[in-house]
Amino acid sequence: MEPVDRRSFFKSVAGTAALAAVEGRPSWASYAGPVFLSTWLHGKPANERAAEVFKGGGSLLDALEKGINVPENDPAVTSVGYGGLPNAEGVVELDAAIMDGTRHRAGSVCSLHMIKNPISVARLVMEKTRHTTLVGEGAFRFALKMGFEPRTLLTPESLKKWQDWKANPQHETFWLTPENHDTIGMVATDGTGHVVSGCSTSGLAWKIPGRVGDSPLAGCGVFADDNVGAASATGDGDLMTNYCTSVSIVHTMARGASPQEACMELLRHMVKTDPKNKDGEVAVIAMNTRGEIGAACMNNRFHLKYALWRNGASQLLESIKLI
Ligand code: ASP
Repeated sequence: MEPVDRRSFFKSVAGTAALAAVEGRPSWASYAGPVFLSTWLHGKPANERAAEVFKGGGSLLDALEKGINVPENDPAVTSVGYGGLPNAEGVVELDAAIMDGTRHRAGSVCSLHMIKNPISVARLVMEKTRHTTLVGEGAFRFALKMGFEPRTLLTPESLKKWQDWKANPQHETFWLTPENHDTIGMVATDGTGHVVSGCSTSGLAWKIPGRVGDSPLAGCGVFADDNVGAASATGDGDLMTNYCTSVSIVHTMARGASPQEACMELLRHMVKTDPKNKDGEVAVIAMNTRGEIGAACMNNRFHLKYALWRNGASQLLESIKLI
């Protein structure tokens, strides 16, 4: 990525503040309590649960984990956890990652089957092992060892959708095209400069078995650093992994950018390297250690709605689009 000109950052900081005023977003100036920022509509109940856990004395990691458990447990959310749409062979394979900005340490699981809370397994990888990532059968056996109960993750609805997809001779396949996805990504601060990042997903519906997207990869789906801030991502992981989106955003913030400007810079960089990325499904969220936030997506086709919990208020907002 190009070096960032400080003057353009100052301009963009002013621009972002002006935009916030126009959009009626809250001012950040005096607030120093916890902030929870998540992707998509399912991010709202996730943030609310996270805030409740935090207010009840849980750590910021507890809050993030329990918050992300909400869409994981909800069968109506077909892109995360229980009820997530399966791969091309009808098996639900889940990906999740968590990162602690104090320890600069992540934990993740990829292609985890039969366990509905992969974010909780990812956290245990981070806390109970010296590893960062476990995949497939190994991740499953680790989860069993940690006391998780195996269960089917297909619901009658997700099974029916897979059967319909399979029965359609014209069905799209992931040898070529993406379909049906929406990760829960969450970034949070406790109000004292500590940040965390987490995400959980069933990935792309009908994916080729064994496919791993951006979500469970540290630096892609999650990144958190208490010296700077945290970021997460949602969208076409096969595209976004190539840009290491979350670490790229945090490093841009480290050079002085606001979270919003850092998100926009990542999107601009993607278009600069390949103009076809203008049509990509890409969305990102970011937060700095002061609890200032950013949220952006590439285009109207994949317009990110995000959820923000701050100072007792839980809101759903629309992100800024690059194009
Ligand atoms: N990024 C996820 C993946 O590619 C899907 C999503 O966030 O919508 O697996």
